[in-house]
Amino acid sequence: MAETKHSKVLILGSGPAGLTAAIYTARANLSPLLVHGPTPGGQLTTTTEVENFPGFPEGVMGPDLMQLFEKQAVRFGTEILTDTIVSVDLSKRPFELTGQGDRRYSCDALIVATGANPRLLGVEGESELMGYGVSTCATCDGAFFRDKVIMVIGGGDSACEEALFLTRFGSKVILVHRRDSLRASKIMQDRVLNHEKIEILWNKQLKKIHGSKESGVTAVTLFHSETKEEEQVNTDAVFIAIGHIPNSQLFKGQLELDENGYIVPAPNSTRTNVEGVFACGDVQDHVFRQAVTAAGSGCMAAIEAERWLEDSSG
Ligand code: NAP
Repeated sequence: MAETKHSKVLILGSGPAGLTAAIYTARANLSPLLVHGPTPGGQLTTTTEVENFPGFPEGVMGPDLMQLFEKQAVRFGTEILTDTIVSVDLSKRPFELTGQGDRRYSCDALIVATGANPRLLGVEGESELMGYGVSTCATCDGAFFRDKVIMVIGGGDSACEEALFLTRFGSKVILVHRRDSLRASKIMQDRVLNHEKIEILWNKQLKKIHGSKESGVTAVTLFHSETKEEEQVNTDAVFIAIGHIPNSQLFKGQLELDENGYIVPAPNSTRTNVEGVFACGDVQDHVFRQAVTAAGSGCMAAIEAERWLEDSSG
């Protein structure tokens, strides 16, 4: 049987929440083990410039910011491993986790900072053409569509941010929103509404994405939210920016989740319904979802885990 790697504190996830929890628990001499999956750094590594993280008056690139977080966590003794945890048993003490290839981990306290992933629409052509003109990441794929027509789906801050970023590349950016007003913050709305390269199609929803792996995306079929009238619009790319799904599947049936799958911590706390398990960042936050709030909740989780370990070691 594979050897089990034990740590006092195991942190799952390496976004701002996980790495902040690592900085704090490492500085508390708890020698945390941080395990992350295939996207180290989380969502900020697929973003461009971050203008609202305090301490960077000129802005900072998302991936650079996450490298700084990681450097700081490692400096104080965090061990970082890449593995995809496939199962967790929170009924055992210490908690047991299994990674790929049956790698085993155990820990006294667990900090869940697994974040959230982009939501998809499930329309025809979306998954078939993902990577062939369909994308959920403007930073990653925008440059492929220089001087092309680019469509963005959604009306929140993400959709507006993606649309604005994509104006650097596209000849035109078409924002498709299912209602007649944007959900995004006022400043983002103003930027989008006043941008000469952005056209907004109001009250429209995506029905089908046309194209092939050879041709890429060529067009979409949209329908009107009220009249259901359909129309075909030509485009070379479709960026889906309609929100996120929390990465909490591992904990279903073990941790309390809300109807959208977000972990439910105790009020004003990161404590979950299982003693010794703490949740921070986007996996438990459907309201703020900011790097700085994720980092703040990572700090809370670390302090709560530290106090819990102290109390439970008696
Ligand atoms: P969001 O605020 O939940 O917005 C999702 C958008 O997608 C909404 O406009 C929604 O339409 C639309 N949508 C959802 N499901 C859809 C469907 N099935 N078909 C068509 N449209 C659909 O998500 P977000 O934009 O990813 O933002 C998440 C959080 O992060 C927010 O709190 C946001 O402020 C924050 N954020 C901040 C920044 C920044 O400050 N720089 C950048 C990105 C995100 P409805 O409006 O009709 O519901």
